[in-house]
Amino acid sequence: MNFGKKLDRCRMCNSSELYEFLDLGFLPPADKILTKSDLYNPEIHFPLKVAQCSFCGLTQLLYVVNPELLYGETYSYESSITETGKKHFFEMAENLCKRFNLNSSDLVVDIGSNVGILLESFKKNGLRIIGIDAAPRIVEIANQLGIETWRGFINKEIAQKIVNEKGKAKIVTATNVFAHIDNKKELMDSLRIFLDDKGIFVIEVPYFVDLIEQLEYDTIYLDHLEYLSIKPLVSFFKNNNMEVFDVEKYSIHGNSIRVFVSWKGNYKKSRNVENFLELEEEKRIYEKETLDKFARMVKQHKKDFLELIHNLKKQGGKIIGISAPAKGNTLLNYCKLHEYFIDYMAEKSSIKIGYFTPGMHIPIIDEEKLLDDKIDYGIIFAWNFADEIMRNPISQEFLKRGGKFIIPIPEIKIIDRIENFEKIGVTKFSKKNFAQISSGNRNYAKFSIENNNSFNMSLENNIMESFGVKIEKINPVHIDERGIISDLVNEPINNVGLITTEKDCVRGCHYHKKSKQYSYILSGKFEVLLASYDNLNNIKKVLLNAGELITIPPFVVHQFKAVERAVMINMESQSRAESGYEDDTFRVKLENI
Ligand SMILES: [Zn+2]
Repeated sequence: MNFGKKLDRCRMCNSSELYEFLDLGFLPPADKILTKSDLYNPEIHFPLKVAQCSFCGLTQLLYVVNPELLYGETYSYESSITETGKKHFFEMAENLCKRFNLNSSDLVVDIGSNVGILLESFKKNGLRIIGIDAAPRIVEIANQLGIETWRGFINKEIAQKIVNEKGKAKIVTATNVFAHIDNKKELMDSLRIFLDDKGIFVIEVPYFVDLIEQLEYDTIYLDHLEYLSIKPLVSFFKNNNMEVFDVEKYSIHGNSIRVFVSWKGNYKKSRNVENFLELEEEKRIYEKETLDKFARMVKQHKKDFLELIHNLKKQGGKIIGISAPAKGNTLLNYCKLHEYFIDYMAEKSSIKIGYFTPGMHIPIIDEEKLLDDKIDYGIIFAWNFADEIMRNPISQEFLKRGGKFIIPIPEIKIIDRIENFEKIGVTKFSKKNFAQISSGNRNYAKFSIENNNSFNMSLENNIMESFGVKIEKINPVHIDERGIISDLVNEPINNVGLITTEKDCVRGCHYHKKSKQYSYILSGKFEVLLASYDNLNNIKKVLLNAGELITIPPFVVHQFKAVERAVMINMESQSRAESGYEDDTFRVKLENI
């Protein structure tokens, strides 16, 4: 299996001068949600490093994952899910039809058409349509919805098939997909085959200037090979005998640009193109200093976000994720927030429910569950749709019951009430009111974070206590970019052992008169039976999970059965040297209850 490749040269101009400025570590594909049985298999993580071409200015990932691995069976991004998204694409189709006088003989091809939400709007306008998408589940849904969609990646063969069966395309769209395509030569060769002489290629992508200014680093993930700005696009299309003739900006996906491209000289060039080029110079997005500063801010954000989450957990807060978008997985994996911190992700997309998030393996469950449990905080990972999410009836009820929302990006905010909330949806942005989407006059309560490096959270959360036995989840005492430090035991220990136990095998079945035992579960699960040595009829059964420490005082009979293969560190207050252990071990078999 070919996993992918390291990029040595710029994808657009072939320069070898790539300036690496950001390293987010090793991450699994953000859209590849996992089934329960996947959790028992290895999960591939890829380097997520970002560089900018010093020659043409294209910002791009330094490692390209084989697309077959990214857009396979479990690819889960369903684009029509939000009202904001639907409205955006509906208006896009309307605008294009009007602006370019499209009529019923014209063909629209959407590359990476997903479930067909954009094409549906073109279809309503009476146009002929065809969608191309690589993800089988998504293609199936689109065809069921009556949107003719072919499975595959765009290439010369499919381009020829389009021409043979449908004729040439007047409009070719690629919304949030252009930056996913590694083989740009194949794309351009395909356009030469199936884009009409008077045809228009319309790209919509998140804008790199906003990514920098709004600290949208969570939008960096393995699918997104490029973080686009106008300068590299202008020179790339010029080199391909095409021309960028207009650019517009929209507030979707944390601000996106819509780029209009045609064969050279076919359409009048708008002044907007120069405006955007000037803006990019003003914002200094092609300077190393700006890129380095961005990388420092990303690191600081991680630190602040972790500090908030750890402090909330320390106060006993129950935290879940609201919605499980791909970008949430960048944040979760980069910050290493696993199931201990985030109980589950409440999601409305039915194709994700029942699965687990990549990397951190947090269960994804129905959004209705938001109200079942006593949840204190809901992190809105799809922060670009925060307005819509917070206004839905379930969220409103959540707030009424005392729940709070956390918006992680661009600055960390905690929201416990919503006022002045009339503005929603797509706002068109111009150069003047550039990048103001996150301000406005809403009453967000901003969380202030004190600079404090350690969290002092060890050995809290007493889950269970009987016969003097304690089971507790071990929390970190310190976290930073190097990793995590946890205290297991702060008492005298004279023996430390590493013990593995195969599935269904039983250990223990004894008690000690002197030794106090501490067992920390590294992996796997135990079913533990406990009883006082003088009353073997009163048996307690508990489940012991990875990450938990059980403390067993003398005179308590303990019996461990591995529910699955388990590894633990066992610590005893008494030494096991010579016959020290056997002399203090008194065997009793407890019957399972
Ligand atoms: Zn370049």
